[in-house]
Amino acid sequence: MNPVQPTVALATATARLVEAFKGVDTAEETAAVLTCCETDALAAVFRAAGAPDTAKLWISEHIAHSSECQGHDADAAPEDDAAPLYDENGKYDPAQEPAPGTEYPFSISDIARATARLLGDGWTAESGSWGVSGTLSGPYSTDFGFVIDYEDDLIIEYRYSTDDDFPEDPELPEQAIKCDSGVYLELASASDGLDALAERSAAAIRAITGR
Ligand SMILES: [Zn+2]
Repeated sequence: MNPVQPTVALATATARLVEAFKGVDTAEETAAVLTCCETDALAAVFRAAGAPDTAKLWISEHIAHSSECQGHDADAAPEDDAAPLYDENGKYDPAQEPAPGTEYPFSISDIARATARLLGDGWTAESGSWGVSGTLSGPYSTDFGFVIDYEDDLIIEYRYSTDDDFPEDPELPEQAIKCDSGVYLELASASDGLDALAERSAAAIRAITGR
């Protein structure tokens, strides 16, 4: 059995706490005998567990039934509590912290593969380690490497080979810019989507190869 991560165990435990304490009767009877400080502390746990309604319930029942209550500003929840990391089931809230592998729907090697499909027969692509690069091979001795450089640009790397009769001064598509290691796709970003990035890459490679 895999060890349960402490944060996940805590989220599961707080979800159980909310489930057990969310009833109006429990809140009415128990919140009546809690101090203001205890009620606020419990409400903070409920909010952090993704149950702001239960937090409000406990504060309002406490205000209504505690003879000692000094008053609470129920809406003035501290900022830290406003956005829980977990939903009511103890799952990660994707808006807060994406689950591993879900933040980006495709990797750099996927762009190389999609480009190979667009270029058609004779083109294949392989993934580099970790998927952060890809190598595209076609019916030429020149390979094309897909990488992200230190400036976050998508680069298609290649080295001109005399074995291939590529045009010496290729007419690159708009926003495909020549650079030291090959061409880069100006302003390309993951949010453009896999298809659009593959289209641009294929257009650049068609220009480079002159086909
Ligand atoms: Zn109070």
